[in-house]
Amino acid sequence: MSQCAYCKRRPIIEGFKPFCSKRCADLDLGQWLTGGYAIPTEESGPDQHSNPEEFDPYKPAND
Ligand SMILES: [Zn+2]
Repeated sequence: MSQCAYCKRRPIIEGFKPFCSKRCADLDLGQWLTGGYAIPTEESGPDQHSNPEEFDPYKPAND
């Protein structure tokens, strides 16, 4: 029998193939995402340098 693709310790459960549980499926997916490009970070956010003054909460709005 095959074992969980993530923890490699428990047998695969039919509903969570190829994992043993939703937890392992989620963990594996999270690991895959964070290792790729799906999680935006502050150092690579597309809006990081786009006119920060417009978002200054202390700046009164000009009528
Ligand atoms: Zn597992």
